[in-house]
Amino acid sequence: MNFEEALDKHLMGKASLEDSVNLYLLTNSPERWLSLFSAASELRNKTLGKDLVVAAHLGMIAPCVLNPLCRYCSASSTDPKINQERELLSVEKLQEYAEAIKKMNVKFIHLVGGTNLLGFDNLVRKAVMAVREVTDLPLEISVGPSLSRDIMKWLKSKGVFRIVCSLETINRVAFSEAKPGDSLERRIDFMKTVNEEGLEFKSIIMNGLGDYRDLIESIHFHRQFRNLTSLSISTFTPIKGTPWEGRSPASVWDSLKALSITRFLFPSADIGLPFGGGESLLPVTLLAGGGNVMMPALIDAAKRTDRTRSI
Ligand code: SF4
Repeated sequence: MNFEEALDKHLMGKASLEDSVNLYLLTNSPERWLSLFSAASELRNKTLGKDLVVAAHLGMIAPCVLNPLCRYCSASSTDPKINQERELLSVEKLQEYAEAIKKMNVKFIHLVGGTNLLGFDNLVRKAVMAVREVTDLPLEISVGPSLSRDIMKWLKSKGVFRIVCSLETINRVAFSEAKPGDSLERRIDFMKTVNEEGLEFKSIIMNGLGDYRDLIESIHFHRQFRNLTSLSISTFTPIKGTPWEGRSPASVWDSLKALSITRFLFPSADIGLPFGGGESLLPVTLLAGGGNVMMPALIDAAKRTDRTRSI
């Protein structure tokens, strides 16, 4: 199979896992990168148009109680300036930030917290009720596989349209190395439950866990979930003070290549780098077929108003 054949199969919606692995490997010259990006962004234009939607990221609504914490995560950093990004918000702060977000032109709020394999129903219920006192903006909830089926029904009744749970990788060895306190099985079961409950679903895959084949296989794995409406490709980047501080970073260009392939497999979904890749990567994310939700990493809201102005 050559590059053109592999690309055509994706454009016809007939790509197998092997076709995607081939397309990934054969995208190996500047001309081919441009062809891949151009085909993926044209498809995005057809299915979603070019308009950007801005959403707000608000957290933490629950602490992460995994033990040990994920080796790459800022929560596991020994540097207080870094791990305080994962500080739990009080109800008062949550409402203050939700109030600030309400005044911005955002389409929905992404409420984020950590993981508790024993469940976080009560904390999430409390956070949603607090936010609902100040805004009726649609909500998506990201607390790993920490929600019961019962609370999913309640969340739906409160205007939560989507549940987020990052699978990161389907390579079991790579998952356990990166997330020794977490459970891949629980995450997969949770994804099935979200689908059964008819809520939209979002996942994130991390480039840098396992090899390129694991990355592509993890993307294909998500094809079984009919309710998946958003999939992001993150790029492993070492964070100071974490157990993986000294590990080599993954390439964001490989993430963008995977992102284009993801666009062909999920033509109408919101595909991107997490948080749109940040302001500097947003243009190239869009060129690679990403879009259309831009979620600045900042709207932990009013606390960083200097950055929110630059959206
Ligand atoms: S589950 Fe999420 S918040 Fe908790 S340690 Fe892992 S990456 Fe960090």
